[in-house]
Amino acid sequence: MISRNQALILDTSDPLKDFRQQFILPEKTIYLDGNSLGALPKRTPIYLQEIIQKQWGEDLIKSWNLHDWIHWPQTVGTKIARLIGAKPNEVLVADSTSINLFKLLSGALKLRPDRRTILSEKGNFPTDLYMAQGLLALLEKDYQLKIVNQDTLFKSIDSSVAVVMLTEVNYLTGHRHDLKTLAETAHAQGALILVDLAHSAGAMPVDLNQNSIDLAVGCGYKYLNGGPGAPAYLYISEALQQTFPAFLTGWLGHADPFAFTENYVPAFGMNRHLCGTPPILSLAALDCGLDLLLEANLQEIRQKSLALGDLFIDQVEAQSPELVLATPRDPERRGSQVSFHHPNGYAVMQALIAQGVIGDFRSPDILRFGFAPLYNRFVDIWDAADQLCNILKSGQWNEPKFQKRQTVT
Ligand SMILES: *Cc1c(COP(=O)(O)O)cnc(C)c1O
Repeated sequence: MISRNQALILDTSDPLKDFRQQFILPEKTIYLDGNSLGALPKRTPIYLQEIIQKQWGEDLIKSWNLHDWIHWPQTVGTKIARLIGAKPNEVLVADSTSINLFKLLSGALKLRPDRRTILSEKGNFPTDLYMAQGLLALLEKDYQLKIVNQDTLFKSIDSSVAVVMLTEVNYLTGHRHDLKTLAETAHAQGALILVDLAHSAGAMPVDLNQNSIDLAVGCGYKYLNGGPGAPAYLYISEALQQTFPAFLTGWLGHADPFAFTENYVPAFGMNRHLCGTPPILSLAALDCGLDLLLEANLQEIRQKSLALGDLFIDQVEAQSPELVLATPRDPERRGSQVSFHHPNGYAVMQALIAQGVIGDFRSPDILRFGFAPLYNRFVDIWDAADQLCNILKSGQWNEPKFQKRQTVT
C-alpha cells in the first residue's frame, strides 16, 4: 500500500503526464474503460468538423480524389503498422474486427487445403469463435473449430491444424500469450497463426514481423481511441499476400473498380481485402487517435500500464481480500487491465460507476479495470481502489438500484 500523496508524486515524475491534457475527460470521473471505448482526443472534434464542412460540405464527391479519401484505408493502415511492428503495405483499415476475422479465416483455410481444423482456446472473445462457426457452417462437414484449454494449447497444435486463432491479451482475464513461441510451434506443424490484437495494440509494443505472425486483426475503438464503432484493421504478412485469396470480393477490392466489369479480379496485395466504400468520417476520427498515440513512446506506455496495474492490485488486495485476482501477477503475462472475481460483480460495478469510477462487468463474475497510460494517472488508480474497497466495506452495492441489468454491461 502507498499513500495518496505517494501516488501524486508518481504522477509528477511520469514521462507521459502531458498526454492527459490532449483528451476530453469528464470532471469527477475516473475512466478505467479505455479498453472498451477509448477516450476522446481534443483534436478529433476539430478535425472532424473540418472534414465535414470543407471536404464533405464544399468539395463533395471531388474529395475522393482531391483529399485522397480513396486511399485512407491504406494511409491510416500505415500508421497502425508502426504500432504493431508491420510493414506499411501489410495493414489495411476496413470493416469491423468480426468481418476481418472472416476474411482471414476463410483465406487461411484455402491456403491449407489438406487441413480441416481451426484451433482456438476456451475463453477467447466470443465474436472470434462465432465468426469461425459461421464460416464452418458454409463449408463441408469435416471442417471443425477445436476449442481447447490454455494448458493444452501447445500440444493441440498438430498437422491437422490449418490455422491457430488466438487473442494476444484475453478480454476477460487480461492474460497475455507468448506469441513468439506460439508462432514457432504453429509453423513447425505447418499451421498458420492468426492473432487478434484488440487488447494489445496501443497498450504495449507489438511486433508482428519479429514474431513471425502470419495474420492479425484488431480494433480501432479501444486503445487506439478511434471512437465508437471505429473501423478495424487486418494484417497479412508480405510473404503470404500474393497467394492469400479474398472471398468477400467487393468492388473496391477489384483490380480496377472503376472499369465496372462483370467479373471479379483481385487487386494487388492487401487491397483485395477492401470490400466496400470506406467510412471516411470514422477513418478521420481514427486517424486523430493514431496520430496522438504515435507521439508517445510505446515502451513508456507499457511500463506505466504495468505500474498502474501493480498499484491497483496492491491497493485492492491489501484492503479487500474478498476480491479474487483473475489476472496473472507476472507482468510479462499481463495486458493493460486488471480483473477481479466477485460473486455480485455486476452490482458492485454499478455502485462504483455511480461514484464516478467507470470500469465494466463481464459475465459471470468479473470486475474489469482497463488502464490507458495516456490519460490515467497514478492518483486515479489510487482513488479507484479506495472507492472500490469502500463500496465493499459498506455493502452499498446491495441497494436494489444497483441490481438491475442494462443491455450493455
Ligand atoms: C472488442 C473485441 C472485438 C470486437 O469486434 P467487433 O467486430 O469490432 O465488434 C473482437 N475481438 C476481440 C478479442 C475484442 O476484444
